[in-house]
Amino acid sequence: METREHFYIDGGFVPAAGTGTIDVVSPHTEQIIARVPDGTTADIDRAVAAARKAFDDGEWARTTPAERAVKINALSAAIASRLDEFAKLISSENGSPYSWSIMGQVLSSQLVLDFYGGLAETYPFEDVRTGFMGPVWVRKEPVGVVAAIIPWNVPLFTAMLKIAPALAAGCTVVLKPAPETPLNSYLLADCLTEAGIPPGVVNIVTAGREVGEHLVTHPGIDKIAFTGSTAAGKKIGALAGERLRRLTLELGGKSAAIVLDDADLATAVPALLGSSFMNNGQACVAQTRILASRDRYTEVVDALSEFAASQIVGDPLDPATQIGPLVAERQRDRVEGYIATAQKEGAKIATGGGRPGDLKTGWYVEPTVFIDVDPDSTLAQEEVFGPVVAVIPYDSPDEAVKIANNSEYGLSGTVFTSDVAAGMDIAKRVRTGTYTINGFSMEFCAPFGGYKNSGIGRELGPEGLTAYLESKSICLPAGTEVPGVLTA
Ligand code: NAD
Repeated sequence: METREHFYIDGGFVPAAGTGTIDVVSPHTEQIIARVPDGTTADIDRAVAAARKAFDDGEWARTTPAERAVKINALSAAIASRLDEFAKLISSENGSPYSWSIMGQVLSSQLVLDFYGGLAETYPFEDVRTGFMGPVWVRKEPVGVVAAIIPWNVPLFTAMLKIAPALAAGCTVVLKPAPETPLNSYLLADCLTEAGIPPGVVNIVTAGREVGEHLVTHPGIDKIAFTGSTAAGKKIGALAGERLRRLTLELGGKSAAIVLDDADLATAVPALLGSSFMNNGQACVAQTRILASRDRYTEVVDALSEFAASQIVGDPLDPATQIGPLVAERQRDRVEGYIATAQKEGAKIATGGGRPGDLKTGWYVEPTVFIDVDPDSTLAQEEVFGPVVAVIPYDSPDEAVKIANNSEYGLSGTVFTSDVAAGMDIAKRVRTGTYTINGFSMEFCAPFGGYKNSGIGRELGPEGLTAYLESKSICLPAGTEVPGVLTA
């Protein structure tokens, strides 16, 4: 069993301040695979002090974007050289199927770094505008010390969604991983050192939610970037509001896939359920409400059920596995609770609904398709975070849009159709941050984030960098030239 006793602070591993520990448990074997320190407020204080010093007194915030791009690219290369190690480690921590971890957990993280490494070199950090009294030098400056708080489902990727733009902007970071997935952050620490990220620029302390709140309310931080549940996001948003902290919140989802009557089911169903069951259904962007017209309802349900039942469920480290276990026993209890509630509220199971009979250990739930789901029911409204989908009938495309919008969430969505123009019309009408026609994607050049209770602000794209910058206007005497900056 692996044991760690340190946190990554100020460019090196320092002993944890407290004596508490966190057991990392395999969701497949249910055995403890590692023990790491449970971060305390003293660890957070030390990490914030290091990040503050690196920002206020260090060189980092004053380096050029091109110099920072070199470091971001080096971090990408360091992660790429450990692709397999990261994928296996994350799969062993959270049950993510290895085949999905390669792309969804690691390559995606590397690609986010590559995007921001490139953007740092082209982003307009400065411009000069013509004011009434003289030229105005408008500068985008780093927002400061960032508290980055991430969940367990895509730990490296959600960390990079924050660290990559923060580095590009010239910010420093305190990263707080979730207690379920601390191990990959130690590998990330090795990558940060190898990439030559200066001491104090990124610091990592794993801790639970109370110590997380200490980080959120710490006077030494300037911005909070949080990914996690809507319940925690509301709490963090309130704490940030009292302190007027800059804030980005990436929260839950209950996304709807609309299958129009002209959709080709042979291609639509694998693409659709691939995104519903992605990461064992533990994905904020999972398409968990499937809207099918009454005319083709039975046909759609049969195709979905057949595909769901064909999924290979098992050991996340087996490359053939398509669906692994849920992250923790309490997560399986939660998902099974939703399955029971859905049945009580009148929905019927078309396939799945139980635990796979052949797996003696592990927190598994069969891929499950519910039919005849009331759009107002608990299953259709709440985020289950497991491999469970609700198929809801509609009578017209207008009604399908209404049902899709009948949600407190608005993170993602998809439409399947052979008429792309009809798909674009639907895409414009669904109130959600990201939409895909005939598939599922999240493009790194484009903003990603939520409408409604799915969050505040955007990650990815240039918008994701802007979120780590403050704008400063410097009003200059008439006739002043600003060297190195293009005039408006
Ligand atoms: P969670 O909200 O319980 O925890 C997320 C992180 O926040 C953990 O590190 C946790 O320790 C910390 N935390 C919780 N409460 C806190 C508080 N009051 N102060 C400071 N830190 C606190 O979520 P989870 O169960 O780990 O993750 C699943 C949730 O994350 C789902 O709702 C999912 O939709 C969401 N998620 C959203 C996105 C997105 O981009 N929108 C991506 C991935 C996951």
